[in-house]
Amino acid sequence: MTNKFFIKNPIQIIFVTIIVSSILILLLLGTIRLEEKIEKKMLDISTYDVISITKNSAKLIENLLKFSHNYPEDIKQDKSLQKKIENSLEILPTKNIKYAYLLYRDYKGVFRFLADASSPNEKAIVNQKFDVDNKKWFDIYEKKEIQVIEHDVLHELSVTYLIPIFYKNEVKLILAIDFSIKKVADINNIIGLMKNAILGIIVITLIFLIILIIQTIKYLAVKKTAYVDNLTKVYNRNYLKELEDFINLNDYILATLDIDYFKKINDTYGHDIGDNILKEIANTISLSIRNSNDIIIRYGGEEFVLLVKISRDEPLAALNVIERVFTNIQEKKFYINKKDYIDVTVSIGINIVPYKSKNFSDAFKLADIALYNAKNKGRNTIEIYDENEDINNKCLSINEIKEAMDDNRIICYYQEIVDSKTLEISHYEALLRIVTKDGLIITPDKILPVIKGTFILRNITKCVLDICFKRLLVDDKIKINVNLNPQDITNDSILNILKSYATKENIANRLGLEVIENEDIMILNDAKENLLMLKNLGYKIFIDDFGSGYSNFIYLTEIKTDCIKIDGSIIKKILVDDVSYLLVKSIVAFAKEANIKIIAEYVCSKEIFEKVEVLGIEYCQGYYFSKPSAFEEE
Ligand code: GH3
Ligand code: MG
Ligand code: MG
Repeated sequence: MTNKFFIKNPIQIIFVTIIVSSILILLLLGTIRLEEKIEKKMLDISTYDVISITKNSAKLIENLLKFSHNYPEDIKQDKSLQKKIENSLEILPTKNIKYAYLLYRDYKGVFRFLADASSPNEKAIVNQKFDVDNKKWFDIYEKKEIQVIEHDVLHELSVTYLIPIFYKNEVKLILAIDFSIKKVADINNIIGLMKNAILGIIVITLIFLIILIIQTIKYLAVKKTAYVDNLTKVYNRNYLKELEDFINLNDYILATLDIDYFKKINDTYGHDIGDNILKEIANTISLSIRNSNDIIIRYGGEEFVLLVKISRDEPLAALNVIERVFTNIQEKKFYINKKDYIDVTVSIGINIVPYKSKNFSDAFKLADIALYNAKNKGRNTIEIYDENEDINNKCLSINEIKEAMDDNRIICYYQEIVDSKTLEISHYEALLRIVTKDGLIITPDKILPVIKGTFILRNITKCVLDICFKRLLVDDKIKINVNLNPQDITNDSILNILKSYATKENIANRLGLEVIENEDIMILNDAKENLLMLKNLGYKIFIDDFGSGYSNFIYLTEIKTDCIKIDGSIIKKILVDDVSYLLVKSIVAFAKEANIKIIAEYVCSKEIFEKVEVLGIEYCQGYYFSKPSAFEEE
């Protein structure tokens, strides 16, 4: 799945956009406030002037009325007084003072004109009714002080000032002034422009934000499905890839967990039950970890990776989490139907010092080596990668292995396979060794885990084949077996090498191919055909480690196996463990029937040899006869 159409980290962009919009909104509010402030300032300046002028007029009118005790009635009757008052009002109108007029309130409370300084055609007549629409007209009678009424008019500041005229400390008349002033056009334009620009940017930003949020929702939905394993609902390998780049290895311990003998479970109960068990294992792990801190990833088939957060206060807590995972799985009953259950165990490898590795993949390899050791120790166990193990126990690095190939330090040791009846050497098994620069001999358990699944493993196989081929040419009596892994059987370059050897006389019939019997070989499409093809070329096919976990008798007959090697871990226990003994017995019975020869591995004592011999096993291999070693001249 591609994320090409989605923004890489939309959440950060959303965050930035929200901040930008907030700043813009603040700016807009600031501009509006600025406009208000300018208006207020203008009003304050004008008010001061207008009021002082108007107060003078009010004083003048008060003076004119000094001798009157009954106004407004007196004024209404006294035309000359009216004229005088009007004259004193007429000096008020200017460019900004539009109207000046004197009002009174009649006994019904209705406001009426007494004098008006407007031009003759606009002038109100005495007693003309005046409608008020603001409560300040009434307030002035109680507050007895100047009232200012601001009107909401576009492009103008428009205000009516009400100045009280007193008689015996009572408000009797009101001198009203309508004042208006054009807002300063330039400032207005600039502010208007600013407001519109900011508003425009806000609208664009908000549209952008909405698109971004929609994209993010899509992105997160895609991301979620791409990173979660369908079957188990834990994270999958894609997530690990994403994580690798930014995970801080100081914060975690790293564990790999693999289900023991899972193929057997699939084989015995079917793939669906296998799937269910996988789900339940993932669920058990999820319930055992601390959800907020720890991460589970289904790494492959039935292998999981756990990243368990290290707590500075409790250094052992992380290890305890892994132990809890282990025991919870051990104690869980895995139901295969309503009433029957099976026990499933896992092996776990832990790297407690991932921060010592350069990158995630190196740290992971060390956990995997520990897992490999756990499997080797019989499974159902936890192994911690020990960086302090001495050099003999330490795996080689990929570079050391490559260097060894370049320097021809890949060699074979050979272990005898003995005829149980005659005790004569029947064949040798060629076993891979690397000689270090210091002359130490390194065994496959310190080589193969590092290169498992890489092309280097195939190159090593080619080296081993080459060595064995030369040995067969030198010594035309001996027979040698080589180990091939399932990927080798399906690799063209290796098949071509084997085809070319087979053209030489007396080679293929003396070169046995030992193939580990595991499910990989069954699922690799061409493996079966290729094995049959190799058999037709004259090679003998040996099935290695038979009985360890996975044993498919039918497959043996299908590929026309010549010989099976019973797994050492079974032979080792044959004297003490009845199940192992019975297992060997049934394998022997089947093999006789199918005309397949048997080799017992790990024959390490006289007693085991005798038991094996009695069972009718044709060949033996083990320390009782000889340890692997180099041929003398090598
Ligand atoms: P070991 O103890 O050495 O781990 O033995 P094993 O049988 O578990 O061997 P291995 O790990 O090599 O085999 C893994 C098997 O898991 C092979 C494959 O058939 C099975 N498997 C992988 N993915 C799935 C899956 O999604 N569902 C089921 N049911 N089985 C799976
Ligand atoms: Mg397994
Ligand atoms: Mg072998």
